[in-house]
Amino acid sequence: MKTPVPDYLQHVLSACNNNQSGALANYIPELAQADPNKLALALSTIDGTIYSTGDDTLEFTIQSMSKPFAYALALKTLGLNAVLQKVGVEPSGEAFNQISLGQDQLPKNPMINSGAITTHALLPHKKTVSRAEHLRRFLSELAGRELQFDENVYASEVKTAFRNMSIGYMLRTVGVMDEDPEQIVNGYIQQCSIKVTVKDLAAMTSVLANGGIQPKTGKRLLDRAIVRQVLSVMMTCGMYDAAGDWLTTVGIPAKSGVAGGIMGVLPGQVGIAVFSPKLDSHGNSVRGVEIFERLSSDMGLHLMEGTPSAQTILQSRYSIGKKQNVIVYELRGVLQFTESEMLLRFLQDEPQAKNKIILDLTNLTLIHDVGARMLFEGVKRLKEDGHQVIVVDSEGVLSEEQVKGNKRLVVNDTLEHYLAQFEEKK
Ligand code: GLN
Repeated sequence: MKTPVPDYLQHVLSACNNNQSGALANYIPELAQADPNKLALALSTIDGTIYSTGDDTLEFTIQSMSKPFAYALALKTLGLNAVLQKVGVEPSGEAFNQISLGQDQLPKNPMINSGAITTHALLPHKKTVSRAEHLRRFLSELAGRELQFDENVYASEVKTAFRNMSIGYMLRTVGVMDEDPEQIVNGYIQQCSIKVTVKDLAAMTSVLANGGIQPKTGKRLLDRAIVRQVLSVMMTCGMYDAAGDWLTTVGIPAKSGVAGGIMGVLPGQVGIAVFSPKLDSHGNSVRGVEIFERLSSDMGLHLMEGTPSAQTILQSRYSIGKKQNVIVYELRGVLQFTESEMLLRFLQDEPQAKNKIILDLTNLTLIHDVGARMLFEGVKRLKEDGHQVIVVDSEGVLSEEQVKGNKRLVVNDTLEHYLAQFEEKK
């Protein structure tokens, strides 16, 4: 059997192929030379598989899709508070290159140019390694290959960067930035000129979808809190003055770039990247938006749809042993707040009789910290009621940190093996 996913992606691409509307970005002369027919799509899963179709080996400049990653690197380097003192997190409802500041005289968010230029100034740098080079190295690590700058696009944009230069001088004037505005704006433009394919972007977004861990290597590249901050800002500000429209129709945190790319991240599920150079009036790829709309509605990817996962937490409950006083709870799925609440409600209904209760975690795929805390609190209360309780975790779903202080309650044997002793007593 061949998985139908690639065929489906190919189908979505073909369905959007006829859409010829939009226009190439022409304020950067080199981008006006792009082939408007190019079209590519890639999707990454959180275990690191990448499906791609169309012009998926074609490189284009990352442009504004570099902004969330630069923000992530600034947060990683300086911490949230220091960054918040320089750049806000409010949607601007304005164009990406608006020459404006919030009432507090700070750029409104890191996704528009004023915020992104400020963020660029916050990137790590040494005499020999520029801010843009630091970011290039970071993006290469996320993509899993060495990315390069596009010197032509860089040179072309620098020549016509009057607007971004004005923003740089404005930031210097109000004191948001102490550095030489020309140097910072040029560095920002270089950051935008890093070349990627949709496959690179899909790999990069898979790290964000996976809570900061590179799914292929298992290496943590970003703290979970940073990923949450970045995705929140992408959700509210990533599509500029089309952010509300995007949230209601697509519902996936995303960021577009003026070369024609759009990348999206559905936390815990998928990363998506598209490329098609013609843009709408907001500067977002026309066919890119259409592809995202289709994927979101066909595959139920809207963030606000949610999943009633709690219903699946209890796989089965049965009693065994001579007196039928050993009660086994087999759990499955993911243990977050909703599932833990449901589990605790089941346990609350346990008769007062002094039973032995076995909670089998083997088929759980993930236990969030809140799930572990609620589980052990439930165990504590069952014991206070006079029950004996044992947690079977043969697959080691609980982390060491989560088990801390409850080690004696946890058995790492398989359920079958553990239950055999009660069968013998029958
Ligand atoms: N380098 C571009 C600019 O600053 C990036 C804009 C974008 O991709 N929206 O104008």
